[in-house]
This record gives sequence, structure tokens and C-alpha cells, in this order.
Amino acid sequence: MKEIVCKLLVIGAGPGGYICAIRAGQLGVDTVIVEAVKAGGTCLNIGCIPSKALIHAAEEFEKVSHMAGAKSPLGISVETPKLDLAKTIAWKDDIVGRLNSGVLGLLRKARVKIVHGRARFRDGKTVEVETETGMQVIRAETVVIATGSEPVELPFLPFGGAVISSTEALSLKTVPKKLVVVGGGYIGLELGTAFAKLGAQVTIVEATQQILPQYDAELVKPVAKRLADLGMRVLTGAKAKGHSGDALLIETTDGEEQRLPADKILVTVGRKPRTEGWGLDELDLDRAGKFLRIDDRCRTSMRGIHAIGDITGEPMLAHRAMAQGEMVAEIVAGKKRTWDKRCIPAVCFTDPEIVTAGLSPDEARAQGYDIRVGQFPFNANGRAMTMLAEEGFVRIVVRADNNLVLGIQAVGSGVSELSSAFALAIEMGARLEDIAATIHAHPTRSEGFQEAAMKALGHALHI
Ligand code: FAD
Ligand code: NAD
Repeated sequence: MKEIVCKLLVIGAGPGGYICAIRAGQLGVDTVIVEAVKAGGTCLNIGCIPSKALIHAAEEFEKVSHMAGAKSPLGISVETPKLDLAKTIAWKDDIVGRLNSGVLGLLRKARVKIVHGRARFRDGKTVEVETETGMQVIRAETVVIATGSEPVELPFLPFGGAVISSTEALSLKTVPKKLVVVGGGYIGLELGTAFAKLGAQVTIVEATQQILPQYDAELVKPVAKRLADLGMRVLTGAKAKGHSGDALLIETTDGEEQRLPADKILVTVGRKPRTEGWGLDELDLDRAGKFLRIDDRCRTSMRGIHAIGDITGEPMLAHRAMAQGEMVAEIVAGKKRTWDKRCIPAVCFTDPEIVTAGLSPDEARAQGYDIRVGQFPFNANGRAMTMLAEEGFVRIVVRADNNLVLGIQAVGSGVSELSSAFALAIEMGARLEDIAATIHAHPTRSEGFQEAAMKALGHALHI
């Protein structure tokens, strides 16, 4: 049995773990990272990156299909386009492969030792890993748990056969004729929309009264309209009950049972922390619900053990995991750091996209703020018009007494790229006057951000 002794052991090489290990390596910390499957974790291999590749391919296919129907006002017409999904998936796999090698290269460059295999805790300072060349024991002064999350499985709809999770959906070789998606949240809507654009008949079954229940109705409205335009069926207040032959059984809000014919049933009802089956239970760390409880330095209840990323709870986003990973590496290297972020932006890559940073109007009111809201629609933005993307708006939420920005939201085509400007404004403590006084390049959709600030100040120029 081989044994390694190190200062820092990171378990899991997803965005949280690999960033933590790279930063620790850069700071000269003797670091080992263990990964059971593939470097890059959920995000790079079966999450953010492959889903965005599929979404982009679907967008392109839908665009040309639209033109083939001679419906394009741009005066462009094309022959009937064809799709070879197996090729699309191979293209996506190539991107994943390149990024995967990139992460391994960055780890090596930072002099991080990479161990392939599943880690299992022996005690709070020691893990054992079954590797291809035998058992490896690793002892560390500090351990970072970054084992991420996995899809929630419904007991009456176990994964297998026609019932698939996002992982299988991202590697289908043909487009299902009839796709039923259980769960109208992030993944269900991102992937459901992509498959509708690729030609599937898609039905979304959402248990609550609204798709994307985490967002307010105003933000979701343009997305719901687009789903209808794409011919997608959306059943809200409907619960999946089971699976019989080639159909999903559901119960609607009024208690009626329905059969929804389906070639594939994609279950996207949330994700749960990967806490079981690798000795974590025996450490008896404090929990916050199903997740590991952490403090503002990502410390767990056991000395010398930190946790980062999805295993620590909502929001389960890659950029939060990365920011936590970077902070923990610096703490281990002796720097004084605490979690002092004012916001974690979130983007839903639907059509159109939704961005949120900071507080929504309702959240700000619930926190006791007296607020003012400025909103600017993209149908008054020249760049949006030239891109056939007039749906949506930018909205700014500020404190009524001093114009401090509390939150910014947008829905519209391509607004994901505005998320950094929104987060920067909040992080820098911007006031409406700062945004209004910043020259925004013309013609860009970002002008909608400046105009929303001007609107809240009472002097929008283009509306
Ligand atoms: P993970 O990425 O889950 O990585 C954990 C790693 O730990 C895995 O590689 C796993 O193999 C390894 N591991 C687990 N147990 C062990 C063990 N015992 N020993 C060794 N290794 C182990 N987020 C966004 O911000 N933007 C998006 O657009 C986005 N899109 C998504 C799309 C989909 C379809 C999905 C499923 C998720 C998406 N997410 C997105 C969420 C994002 O993927 C996660 O928030 C992120 O991956 C969490 O990072 P992590 O490092 O905490 O864990
Ligand atoms: P989610 O929490 O976004 O959505 C799950 C949805 O399923 C909810 O709307 C819920 O009401 C519904 N639901 C639950 N049980 C149901 C049932 N029995 N029948 C019908 N509907 C039911 O979860 P997700 O879409 O699985 O995504 C998981 C996580 O992954 C997200 O919370 C997010 O953190 C992350 N993610 C992020 C992005 C992004 O940043 N763009 C993309 C994909 C995933």
C-alpha cells in the first residue's frame, strides 16, 4: 500500500475542487487532488459546457429551419436543413475533451499531484483511494470536500431505459420524437427548449404553478411565450406519478390523471449533494438540510475540513464553487479571507436568457428596503432590433433613499453576457448615477442597462 503525506488534499476535481487545487499549487501549497471520474466534474463533462454546446447547436438549427420556411424577414432563404445529432454530440464531446485536457494541464502546471480513483475517508485526515495500480493512502493537514452533486431520482421513475437524467440527454444519438420533461426548472427548460428546436415534440411537467419558480413572473413571461411559439406544451401544477409502457402518468392541478406519450422521459427535479457511500457519514459533520454546513470560510464542523461547491448547498452554480475554491486555497496558504461577496449572479440559458444579480424587487421589499425600480425594454434598443431580439428588458432595483443598487435582472436574447456588468455594479457598490454616467458603447444591448438606470432617475432618453 502506497502512502502520500501532503499539506492539502482536495477531494473532487469539479470547478470547486480543481480551482482550489490550482490556486493552492500557485501559492506553493503541497497539494493532492483525487478525482473518481474526470477532471472538470459535472460542469465540464456533463453539465454547463455540454448543455451550452447543445443549446447553441439547437439555436443554429432552429434559425436555419426558420429561414427554410421562408419566414425570415432578413430576406434569406435556405434549402431544408438536416440534422445529424450524432455529429453534433461528437462536436460537443471534442470541446469537452479539449477542456478536460486543459484542466489536467493547469493542475500539472501548478504542481498539483493528481490521483485517479474514488476517495474514501478513513478518518478526518486520511483517505484511501482504489487506483488502477492499487490502494493509495493519502494523509493531509487540511482536507477540502468538493464532491459536488448528482441528479435527484424520483422513486416512482427510476433512471434507466426511457427514463433519463441530464447526463443521458446530453449524449443522445437521435432526437426523440416525443420528449416529456419532468421539472420546469433550469435544466428542464434549457434542455427541453434545445430538443424542441431540434425537432422533438416537448411537454414540460412542472409541479408548481409557474415554470422557473425561482424567478418572478415578469422575468419568466418572455420565456413562457417563446416556449408556446416553439410549440412546446407546458403543464404547470402537474405532478409526475409514474411510468407505464411508453407514457408518463401525471396528476393535474384539479386531480385529473393523464397519460403523456413519451419516447424519452427526462427527469430534472433538482440535484442532491454527493454525501453517501464514501465514508463521509462516519465523520458526522454538521448538516444544513442534506448539504454540509459551512461558515464564512467554508469550514465544516470538523477542524481541518473545508467544503466547497454543490455539496454545500444553493445556489448550486459553477462560479460559486470556483469562488469558494479560490478563497479556501488562499486561507490554507495563510491569507486572511472570508466570504464577503455581495452577489452571485445566475444565468438561465433559456430562450430568451434570464440573468439575475442581487435582490429582486420582492426580495428587497421582504428585507425591509424602501425601493425604486427602473426598467427598460429591449424593443426600444437599436441593437436588439437589428438582431431580431426585441423581447425582454433590463430592470434595476435600488434603495429609494440613496440610489444604491440592490439588484439587477434582465431577460432577453444574449443577456448572459451582461451578467458580469451587473455583478460588478453590485460588488463595487454602484449607485444609479454611476451607471447612468458611464458611457455605454453604441449600438449594444448593454445600453439598456444604462437606460434602466436613467429611467429610475426619472430621465431615460430613449423611452
Ligand atoms: P462537481 O462539478 O459535481 O464535481 C465534483 C467532482 O467530484 C466530480 O468530478 C466527481 O466525480 C468527484 N467525486 C465525487 N465523489 C468523489 C470521491 N469520493 N472521490 C473522488 N472524486 C469524487 N452551473 C452554472 O453555473 N452554469 C451552468 O450553465 C450550469 N449548467 C448546468 C447544466 C447541467 C445539465 C447540470 C447538471 C449542471 C449545471 N450547472 C451549471 C451546475 C454546475 O455543474 C455545478 O454547480 C458545478 O459543477 C458544481 O461544482 P462542484 O465542484 O461543486 O462539483
Ligand atoms: P431546479 O431546482 O432548477 O428545477 C427543478 C424543478 O422541478 C422545480 O421547478 C420543481 O418545482 C420541479 N419539480 C420537483 N419535483 C417535481 C415533480 N415530482 N413533478 C414535476 N416537477 C417537479 O433543478 P434542475 O433543473 O434539476 O437543476 C439542478 C441545479 O443545477 C439547479 O438548481 C442549478 O443550481 C444547476 N443548474 C444551473 C444552470 C445554470 O446556471 N444555467 C443550468 C442547469 C443546472
